[in-house]
Amino acid sequence: MRKVLLLDYNNRPINICSWKRALVLLLKGKARNARLLNDIESMIKVENFLIPLVIKLNYNLAVQYKELPFCRENILVRDEFVCQYCGKKFPPEELTLDHVYPKSRLGPDIWENIVACCKECNQKKADRTPKEARMKLLRRPYRPKDYLKFELKKYPEDIVKHWQEYFEAS
Ligand SMILES: [Zn+2]
Repeated sequence: MRKVLLLDYNNRPINICSWKRALVLLLKGKARNARLLNDIESMIKVENFLIPLVIKLNYNLAVQYKELPFCRENILVRDEFVCQYCGKKFPPEELTLDHVYPKSRLGPDIWENIVACCKECNQKKADRTPKEARMKLLRRPYRPKDYLKFELKKYPEDIVKHWQEYFEAS
């Protein structure tokens, strides 16, 4: 998990990139450590390099809005690995994806219609709507808005703590 947060010229987060890309940007003089002090705490050691966990570009860049991919992993992360019917947390391999409005009745594959669901609840619900199955959703499924803020959920806390302040400011 050797990733680096990339900020634009104005200290706004624009990407989470690999340490290799970060190193190339640093060596080419396109980016620098976002912090003024080189404290070892906020660096990662890779091979013989110390790479800051946050770097910023030395030039302005028009940032393109990136849309969050609609995929199983992201649905599970959005729902925090919690079955949206019984409220219990499961390891990823024990979760299925449930179409709230059933697929057999042409319920669409969209963020707003898919939730994490344990196997037991999925069987119980079968090809019915939550109302028909008398099962209540914990919350209404939604499309996550901010791509990068969402990506933070996938990283360990001791890394995110070095990145967090740049998200609060933007
Ligand atoms: Zn369940």
